[in-house]
Amino acid sequence: MKKREKFLDFSPPAITDKEINAVVETLKSGWLSMGPRVFEFEKKFSEYIGCRCSVAVNSCTSALFLSLAISGINKGDEVITTPFTFASTANVICHLGAKPVFCDIDKDTFNISPKQIESKITKKTKAILPVHYGGQPCDMEEIQRIADEHGLVVVEDAAHALGAELNNKRIGASGNLTCFSFYPTKNITTGEGGMITTNNKEIADRLKLLRLHGISSEAWSRYSRGGKWKYDVLAPGYKLNMSDMNAAVGIVQLERIKELNQKREEIYNLYTRKLSLLNAIELQKPRENIKSSYHLFPILLKNHNRDSFIDGMTEMNIGTSVHFIPLHLQPFYQKEFGYKEGDFPVAEDIYGRIISLPIHPMMTDGDAEYVCEAIMHILG
Ligand SMILES: *Cc1c(COP(=O)(O)O)cnc(C)c1O
Repeated sequence: MKKREKFLDFSPPAITDKEINAVVETLKSGWLSMGPRVFEFEKKFSEYIGCRCSVAVNSCTSALFLSLAISGINKGDEVITTPFTFASTANVICHLGAKPVFCDIDKDTFNISPKQIESKITKKTKAILPVHYGGQPCDMEEIQRIADEHGLVVVEDAAHALGAELNNKRIGASGNLTCFSFYPTKNITTGEGGMITTNNKEIADRLKLLRLHGISSEAWSRYSRGGKWKYDVLAPGYKLNMSDMNAAVGIVQLERIKELNQKREEIYNLYTRKLSLLNAIELQKPRENIKSSYHLFPILLKNHNRDSFIDGMTEMNIGTSVHFIPLHLQPFYQKEFGYKEGDFPVAEDIYGRIISLPIHPMMTDGDAEYVCEAIMHILG
């Protein structure tokens, strides 16, 4: 087959003049840090998700950290999570002196397996941290049932799941602490940024206190005209707030979310139609009553070598990625907690065979068809 000339990027950000102009306007406004645009972004985010409160921070990593901190996770505690995730999901557990207790994933959805969760609960368990892998919601009914039965907190890593739905409700609307990412590869971006949603106003107020030095809430405006110079330090807070420059991008991106996710869905459906016909690969099998945010399109190879397949795709000018190298195979987690190869066979089997195909709103049907042809070409 004929090789395309331009490299097809894996997941570039979808930025238009609207986002660019919003940043320029912010720069000209004289207010760059957290201020009116962050608060507007939070308000619109809550409306979109269908939750009471949203708290903007500088990354999803910060969102996860603050959510665990506010839940009282401490030295010696255990938090149950998936090894099939990005480093930050488990790193933040370690930041609080707690232990990430991994459990294996479901072979169809690649999400944490509720059955495995129950077997990992000990007296030290304080929280469950599920990740909605690729934008496919976890079995939250079952996870919530387990959490309620054992009195555990649930913090959701929804870095992939903006716009995803479970039983016709958006992820983030449930009332759990739910953490979103606006990193450039995610469904919407602010450059860097994150958001925590909750239905508990007291918790939201506490999160807002901790994200900015632990100083009383109007303190962000202490440099504006009429702003108060006096403030109280109520807790040794952190510096994890979002800036107005980032929020300006986020407001525009959020206005475009329907269009952006719809484009992803079209590419996702085209891939599914073409690739489900191939015997040499397997696809993620979505659960019922969910709508994905179509963040990733992973394929599993049955008999071909994954690494040479990726080389073949690169040779055809197609960007791909691997989500994720299981955390229990990483040097730090092995050394610190004694995890080893063989601990989580499903995650390891999938890791050995998985590739994420390019999927983003700027892709055309022609691009996706080219990817499918290249796959058939490489697999013979
Ligand atoms: C991207 C990602 C994060 C981290 O998001 P940041 O905003 O970069 O901190 C966390 N969890 C998962 C599953 C991710 O993919």
